[in-house]
Amino acid sequence: MAKLIDGKAIREFNLDKIASEVAQLKEKGVEPALAVIIVGSDPASRVYVNNKKTACERVGMRSLEFAMPEETTTEELLALIDKLNADASVSGILCQLPVPKHIDKNAVLRRIRPEKDVDCFHPENVGLLSTGMGKLMPCTPMGMMKMLEYEGIDPAGKHCVIIGRSDIVGKPMAMLMLSKSATVTICHSKTADLPSITRQADILVAAVGIPNFVTEDMVGEGAIVLDVGINRLESGKLCGDVDFEAVKEKASMITPVPGGVGPMTIAMLMQNTLTACKEQNNILM
Ligand code: NAP
Repeated sequence: MAKLIDGKAIREFNLDKIASEVAQLKEKGVEPALAVIIVGSDPASRVYVNNKKTACERVGMRSLEFAMPEETTTEELLALIDKLNADASVSGILCQLPVPKHIDKNAVLRRIRPEKDVDCFHPENVGLLSTGMGKLMPCTPMGMMKMLEYEGIDPAGKHCVIIGRSDIVGKPMAMLMLSKSATVTICHSKTADLPSITRQADILVAAVGIPNFVTEDMVGEGAIVLDVGINRLESGKLCGDVDFEAVKEKASMITPVPGGVGPMTIAMLMQNTLTACKEQNNILM
């Protein structure tokens, strides 16, 4: 049976390290600050924003929240971003997605200065990631890399198969894996004979958004399985993209849902805010 990769424990391990670095920065008179913008009253977004605020408190960072009404225009939102871009006391800025339909999401994501783009969505940061020169990393993929590091797994020479090619998970995960010298295959909805490819994976990443999509016959003996999916079943229960009960009998390591990849994402947001603050203040630690 597979060893469980405990996302909550690894999150706490990383948050402790971040908190200690934040304390050292504060001793130098520098305080990292994360500005979070939320537009409208989507209940799920509200929960995510509250969680980000709690995480800031956990590591001793300052958090600023800007709640804007549903009818906010793109121009008003861009004006706020300009103000935060120019504010030297703000290390990181993020706009909680989704934004209301009338807002030009791409204009918003491009307006955040790349140095403060802690979600790593700006095209400049996406480009830097692909050249290996990026400082800020997309949070969910970086969280998975930290999990592997914690477990002592070196991706070099391993075949990493990623199911999903989204801009926030699949593609950046491929770049991070490549930068660690894994051999990478990205699969998607048009991939032919998916199981024959996924069975070859030493490390299998599932980022599909379909409950229990990865079945036992799609996984090779001893594979490491990272489940990014967060799906809510009709019963209200959360489940991943992997048929956990069956696949855990075949994999060597596996992340559960909940309690796996999910908890890492917010820790990596704190990591990016800390990194952004250090870069902006030319602090090497
Ligand atoms: P997405 O943008 O919807 O992308 C899903 C990907 O899955 C697409 O590339 C799609 O292929 C592929 N796909 C769909 N059906 C497929 C099939 N039958 N066979 C092979 N590939 C298929 O989703 P996402 O934003 O990457 O998120 C994926 C999951 O991760 C969701 O459950 C989401 O909630 C979760 N998530 C979790 C976190 C976290 O913090 N843990 C963060 C982000 C996302 P095409 O490109 O061909 O359509």
